[in-house]
Amino acid sequence: MFKWFGKVNFSPFTKVTDFAQYLKDGRLMGSRCKECGAESFPPRADCENCMSGDFEFFEMTGKCTLHTFTTIVAAPTGFEDVTPYTVGVVDLEEGGRALAWFGETIAEKEIEIGMKLQVVPQIFAELEDIKVYYSLEKPGTTWAKTDSAM
Ligand SMILES: [Zn+2]
Repeated sequence: MFKWFGKVNFSPFTKVTDFAQYLKDGRLMGSRCKECGAESFPPRADCENCMSGDFEFFEMTGKCTLHTFTTIVAAPTGFEDVTPYTVGVVDLEEGGRALAWFGETIAEKEIEIGMKLQVVPQIFAELEDIKVYYSLEKPGTTWAKTDSAM
C-alpha cells in the first residue's frame, strides 16, 4: 500500500514502491520484464505476459493521446469533496494506458478524444502525507526532475 498516493489506489503494486519515489522526483517510470521484455505502465512487479517477477524500471516521456474521458459527478468514497472532476484514459506513446485527472493547462471545453496530451507527475507537498499522482497537460508542458531515486 502506498501512503504517498493517498486517495489514488495503487495497492496491488507492493513490490514497486520505488515508483512513488520516482514520481516524487518528477520521473514517470514504466516497468520492463527482464524475462520477455514486455513493458507496462503503471509498473507491474509481475509480468502480465510471462508472470516473471523480475523487472526493471525505464523512464517514459509521458507523451500520449486521449483515448476516452469522463466527468465524475457522483464520486466514490474519498473524492466527494472534489466533484465534479474530469478524468481521462490515455494511450501512452511508449505503450500502456494511464488514467489521470486533467490538469490546469487544459480547459474542459477543449477536451476531445484523440487530442495529444502530456502526462506530468504532480506532488501535493502541502498535504499531511506527501501525495503523488500525475495529471494530463498540454503537449510541451515541462516540470522539474531530480535524481534522488536513481
Ligand atoms: Zn515477461
